[in-house]
Amino acid sequence: MPDECIFCKILQGEVPSSKVYENEKIFAFLDLNPVNPGHTLVIPKKHYQDIEKIPEDLLIEMVKAVKKIGLAIKEGLEAKGYNIGLNNGRVAGQLVPHVHFHVMPRKIGDGLKLWPQRKYQGQEMDKTAKLLSSHIES
Ligand code: AMP
Ligand code: ZN
Repeated sequence: MPDECIFCKILQGEVPSSKVYENEKIFAFLDLNPVNPGHTLVIPKKHYQDIEKIPEDLLIEMVKAVKKIGLAIKEGLEAKGYNIGLNNGRVAGQLVPHVHFHVMPRKIGDGLKLWPQRKYQGQEMDKTAKLLSSHIES
């Protein structure tokens, strides 16, 4: 683990956290700066930087935990739904280099907005789809 990883420090008990859930491979705790109360971070107990580095079986365990947290958010906090987010890479807003899902409770009229969207110009959409598919292994 990198010495400076705050989430590894949480896992080792060097930094306090408000635990929501854990199992053998996964830990989930409240984000210090929630978009709404109950905003939870789901992390693997082993340090991996991002979604490309994490083994697929562990990624599945993360997603299973995300689903459990989402259900708890709806039942326990009376949220109507939740957003699931993963900032992958610094340019995408990843500040902590230990892969994590955000599970963010949503309530009607909470004022949160999704990301801004735009329109494709000319052939851009078709070209982009072809470029992407040519880089995806079947
Ligand atoms: P990201 O920008 O996707 O890397 O998100 C990192 C998140 O970690 C932010 O939402 C922070 O509020 C949260 N965070 C940073 N340090 C702590 C901490 N010690 N305990 C709980 N959440 C934290
Ligand atoms: Zn770490």
